[in-house]
Amino acid sequence: MNANVRTGPVAIIADDEDLGRLLLAEAATTIGLIPLVFDNGTAALESALANEVSIVLLDVDMPGTDGHSVCERLRAEPKFAMVPIVMVTGREDPTAIRRAFEAGATDFISKPVNWTLLPYRLEYIIRNASKAQALAERESQVRTLVEALPDRLWVVTANGEIRWCPGIVPIDSAGMASTSSQNPPHAMVPAQHLKRTLEAIRATVADGVPRKLEYRETNAGDADRSYELRFGRREGGDVVVIRRDTTERTAAAEHIERLAYYDPLTALPNRQRCLETADRLVADAAAAHESVAFIYLDLNGFKRINDTFGHPIGDAVLRIVARQLDLAIAQFQRHHEHILLARFGGDEFVILLRDAEARSLAIDVANACYGSLKDPVTYEGIEFQSTPSVGLALYPDDGADAATVLKHADTAMYQAKAAAVNTVAVYSPAMSSRLRDWLDLEARLRRAVRDDGLHLHFQPKFRLTDNRIVGVEALLRWCDVEYGDIPPSRFISIAEEGRLIIDIGGWVIRAACRQIRAWLDQGMTVPVAINISAKELRYGDPARLVELEAKAAGISPAQIEIEITESLLVDDSTVVRTTLDRFRDLGCKIALDDFGTGYSSLAYLTRFPPDRIKIDKVFVRNIDQSLGDAAIANAILSLAENLNLLVTAEGIERAGQLEWLRRRGCHEGQGYLLSRPLSARVLEQQFLRPESVASPSIGARG
Ligand code: C2E
Ligand code: MG
Ligand code: MG
Repeated sequence: MNANVRTGPVAIIADDEDLGRLLLAEAATTIGLIPLVFDNGTAALESALANEVSIVLLDVDMPGTDGHSVCERLRAEPKFAMVPIVMVTGREDPTAIRRAFEAGATDFISKPVNWTLLPYRLEYIIRNASKAQALAERESQVRTLVEALPDRLWVVTANGEIRWCPGIVPIDSAGMASTSSQNPPHAMVPAQHLKRTLEAIRATVADGVPRKLEYRETNAGDADRSYELRFGRREGGDVVVIRRDTTERTAAAEHIERLAYYDPLTALPNRQRCLETADRLVADAAAAHESVAFIYLDLNGFKRINDTFGHPIGDAVLRIVARQLDLAIAQFQRHHEHILLARFGGDEFVILLRDAEARSLAIDVANACYGSLKDPVTYEGIEFQSTPSVGLALYPDDGADAATVLKHADTAMYQAKAAAVNTVAVYSPAMSSRLRDWLDLEARLRRAVRDDGLHLHFQPKFRLTDNRIVGVEALLRWCDVEYGDIPPSRFISIAEEGRLIIDIGGWVIRAACRQIRAWLDQGMTVPVAINISAKELRYGDPARLVELEAKAAGISPAQIEIEITESLLVDDSTVVRTTLDRFRDLGCKIALDDFGTGYSSLAYLTRFPPDRIKIDKVFVRNIDQSLGDAAIANAILSLAENLNLLVTAEGIERAGQLEWLRRRGCHEGQGYLLSRPLSARVLEQQFLRPESVASPSIGARG
């Protein structure tokens, strides 16, 4: 009878009868336990608490602390939660047996004890207990695992009654309590998804095939959440339902879809979506014996907006254009299902429509697009012309697949652009060869720049008070061996489509510097104005080129005047400003060309005053005949007077125009009446040699 701590599996035995104690100890030893034997409850309790115990055998009736009390005390200890406690009852007494179980006993043995069988009985009880313990441990592990998962889990019956779910999950956001007892199925999903959920459960019970179901939960105030329910049949016919919160995954998938298929600038479907839709529409149309129209739409002169005002403004204009087009198309989408507007890239939009009457519907849609872009787009007080060129081609008439038809719509669009008429160009096979001509021209121009196939003409400018020549404007000329003379109005715009304009600009600067040198060598001095395109000014480095070429030619850059269009000054970009400042530092004068045709805001004139403005020839044309044009010219002249700027009138062709300008005090003039653009040699002979008459005899050369 000792309470010493033992190592190894221990059996605690308490019985006040000597024989009983002995036989119980004997049975314990038989099954490999170390018996610690006591004749009273108190000592047994003390020893039990101090040892690692495999089993406790307690006589119910003992003086002092009886077996029931010892059992109750032990069960209160966490470490005895799973240890088998066996009561030895003196008689088959139902009350005593019930009390024993109430006190937490695992089993009971009634006296007289069958001593032969006792060891087997004890072994069995211990084995059961350790199995129960292992099970409890596993369950606790599973519970921990399940609770650690972000997913929720239920085991439900075929009717959706919840049999089991991890118990200590708190009441969730939707206010659904979770419990481990039987529960109706609405604890799993919001009411509106219950029917589908029950159907899935029943179907899974019936066929055992795992299923999935997705739903979205809208919570007032909160962002939507999306969930996925998975159903799997267990042995025995119950169904495991796992609910996963897929909000983030869904959001990511939607984000990826947006990135892949939508244009971030305009939020319209992008090129990829357009191409995929085109393929689908063509396949559907083929099956339904319908047509698909491909409308290709490109903004005229958009590159100029980008080059002149910079990309942020270009982007803003594109966004506005996209919205207008979207609105224009919405009215058709109400009655026709298969219409898609996509931003195809840059300033290109594509409209696809599948219809039994695709051709006539497409013409209506295209006209609506023209209509929506007829008025200039206004952004930050500036007006931008954004009329489109529109080409149309149809499946199956113009091609057997989407890619071919799209290419032909593009060709038709180029045709519309070249014709510069505001009507839809409908594809015809002849167009393809015309487009080749256009591309051919660009390649030829590239060659001309490389092989010095360009040359300069010079048009004199005269002071109107005394008809003296005050300078010349260098104008680029291109004579192609096959096409003959091609006017700058035709090829400058082609060059501006790409970077070729920058090479051309460089060529002009060098040629002008060399010409000035040649004239100097012959004792002739005349300022030369050169035209710098917006793109060249933004993306080339014309000021540096002027500096280098002037130096190489050994002339002063102050001999050079720069003509830019007023649109360049409208946005206050640092690139433009820095370049103009550098021209100023070199001593170059700056003229605003084509004045009056550009953009309505004049604030820039005070921000960056030029040296000279050139009234555009459209205002000069009827200056002496139209009150409107006269009023504009008058306003420009007053403005220039106030700002102290020189004014040159362009395009003087008649004596009446010259008279009007002279009377109104315009400083200088340029035009066919005074002199056409001339080759360097003719210019020298007529205007630069000391012996030549340095003023035009009006009317003689027209
Ligand atoms: P611009 O700078 O306004 O040049 C004046 C244009 O008006 C020239 O046309 C000139 O020949 C024409 N012109 C002169 N007097 C009269 C007249 O009395 N009546 C009419 N109807 N026209 C007259 P051109 O040479 O065809 O050049 C057209 C435009 O091409 C130029 O307009 C300029 O913007 C551009 N350009 C010409 N050369 C160059 C160049 O070297 N570089 C750049 N970037 N652009 C150039
Ligand atoms: Mg000019
Ligand atoms: Mg001009």
